[in-house]
Amino acid sequence: MRKKIIAGNWKMNKDIHGTATLIQELRDRLKDFRGGAEIVVCPPFPSLVVAKTIIGDAPIRLGAQNMSHQDDGAYTGEVSASMLAAVGCTCVILGHSERRQYFKETNELVNAKVKKALAAGLTPIICVGETLEERESGVTDAIITTQVRGVLHELSSGEIEKVILAYEPVWAIGTGKNATPEQANDVHRHIRKLVSQMTSWNVAEKLVIQYGGSMNAQNAAVLLAQPDIDGGLIGGASLKSDAFMTIIQAAAEAVSQ
Ligand code: PEP
Repeated sequence: MRKKIIAGNWKMNKDIHGTATLIQELRDRLKDFRGGAEIVVCPPFPSLVVAKTIIGDAPIRLGAQNMSHQDDGAYTGEVSASMLAAVGCTCVILGHSERRQYFKETNELVNAKVKKALAAGLTPIICVGETLEERESGVTDAIITTQVRGVLHELSSGEIEKVILAYEPVWAIGTGKNATPEQANDVHRHIRKLVSQMTSWNVAEKLVIQYGGSMNAQNAAVLLAQPDIDGGLIGGASLKSDAFMTIIQAAAEAVSQ
C-alpha cells in the first residue's frame, strides 16, 4: 500500500501573521491525529521561516510553491533550491498550471527545475494536467504523456522514485468542479503505466500520484478511496484548518481500509 500525502498549496495567500495562525490551528488539530497520512504545507516565500518555526516538532513537512532552475547569481526575484532547503523546506511544487499559464513555464523549464530540486534534496511535487478544451477534444492521455515525459526527461529511475506527481486537470483548479473519482483514477493509472514504461513496475508502483482540483472536505474521501489516487494537492480548502484537517483524516482512513 502506497502512503497518502496531502499537500496544501496556499498560493499567494497568508502573510506571516496569517501563516502563524493557520499553522498553529493545524498543530492544535493534529494533537488528536493518529497518523496514516503525510502532511505538507506550502506557504508563500516570505512566510517560510515563520512557518518552520511554528511547525516545530509537529508532523508537517514544509514546501515552497516554485523555485529557480539556476543555482545562484544575477536572477533578480528568483529563489534557489538550496535557499529553500536552508529554511527547512523538504518539498517544492513545480510546474503548477498557474505557473505554466501566467508565467509561460514549459515542460523543459520544469524539467530543469526538477533536476535542481532533486540535487538539493527536495521532493518535487510536479504538476501535470489538461485544459477543458483538451479533455473535450479527447486528447487528455496524449497531453499527459507529453507532460510526464517532458518533466521527467533524462531522470534516472532512482530520481523518478523520489518525485511526487500531481494530476491537476486545469478545468478543475479553483473552479469548484472536481474530476469524478473515475476520471481522475483513469488518468492516474495512465501516468503509472507510463512511468512503468520509463522505469519499471517496481518504481511505478511506489510512485505517489496526487490528485488536485477542487478537492475539499466533502469530496476528499471518495477521491482518496480510488486505488491510484495517493493523496491530494489542495488549494482553496487548505486555507481553512478544519477543511484541511478533514481531508487529512480522509486520507488516513483510506490507508487504513
Ligand atoms: C491547486 O491550486 O493546486 C488546486 C488544486 O487548487 P484548488 O484546490 O483550489 O482547486
